[in-house]
Amino acid sequence: MANTLECSIDNLPMMEKHPHHKLTIVHMSDSHISHQFLKSIPDGDIFIHSGDISHKSEWYDWQQKIEKELEKNPNLNREELYESTPSISSFNEWIGELPHPIKIVIAGNHEMGFNGLTRSFIRKNILPNAIYLQDQTLIINYKGQELLRLYGTPWTTSSNMGFSISRHRIKDKWEKIPMETDVLITHLPPFGIMDLASGKDPAFFCDYCKKEHKYRKHWGNVELRNKAIELNSKGCLQAHLYGHVHEFHGTTVEPITKDSSRPLLYSNAASVGSHTDKNILKPNVIEILPRKLQLI
Ligand SMILES: [Zn+2]
Ligand SMILES: [Zn+2]
Repeated sequence: MANTLECSIDNLPMMEKHPHHKLTIVHMSDSHISHQFLKSIPDGDIFIHSGDISHKSEWYDWQQKIEKELEKNPNLNREELYESTPSISSFNEWIGELPHPIKIVIAGNHEMGFNGLTRSFIRKNILPNAIYLQDQTLIINYKGQELLRLYGTPWTTSSNMGFSISRHRIKDKWEKIPMETDVLITHLPPFGIMDLASGKDPAFFCDYCKKEHKYRKHWGNVELRNKAIELNSKGCLQAHLYGHVHEFHGTTVEPITKDSSRPLLYSNAASVGSHTDKNILKPNVIEILPRKLQLI
């Protein structure tokens, strides 16, 4: 099924050495051209990048060129006209060199050149050195047993960028996330959790934070947060990984689930302030219980 990819692996040295056989996920996001400045990368079983590898400014010339060519000949295929930016090509090489046994990537709103391409084209031709997920589940099988299910989706409500969708339609994308998901990867944050972005917005009283915000706005999505809580309480969700809001970098636990036997962990791994930033933050490191051990 196109909405499910599988990968099989027999060797996960970190998980095998871990006293509780937990999987170590190394989570990075929003590197915006600067991935190569990251000098030390933590060890892990799975490396995940949750979007914004490139920067919108890299796509403008190519976009103008492609629009002109499509105007002249509307039958031209966007995939034949596609050209990666230097940052996308160099990221693909860079991730190929990482030692992590499994590497997963989703797109962000800055990957504007991915619009109109099929996800299989992106996977095979643009980011072949990673497992590219776009509204898809990846099942990881370990020595013949199902270990983990991860779901990745790139959509945001940023207007006219990569994978942009309106505020009232975005929840349709969350409805597709299967209940069996153990790890959710989105580019957009859930509302209220490490999602307060700086901007030019006038002061307003925030009902959620119970205080006034000036030049700050929640970019996170309410339905996404509700979905993550539902996937945790009724399903298997252990962690929700995202980026997009550059003002935060860290991990926290969903307050509603903090006393439950399986708290929901959030990770915002945005690693630069802006795309000219060479001071890139280290990825977040998260530990997850594999699926077969949850059943014992
Ligand atoms: Zn973004
Ligand atoms: Zn970003």
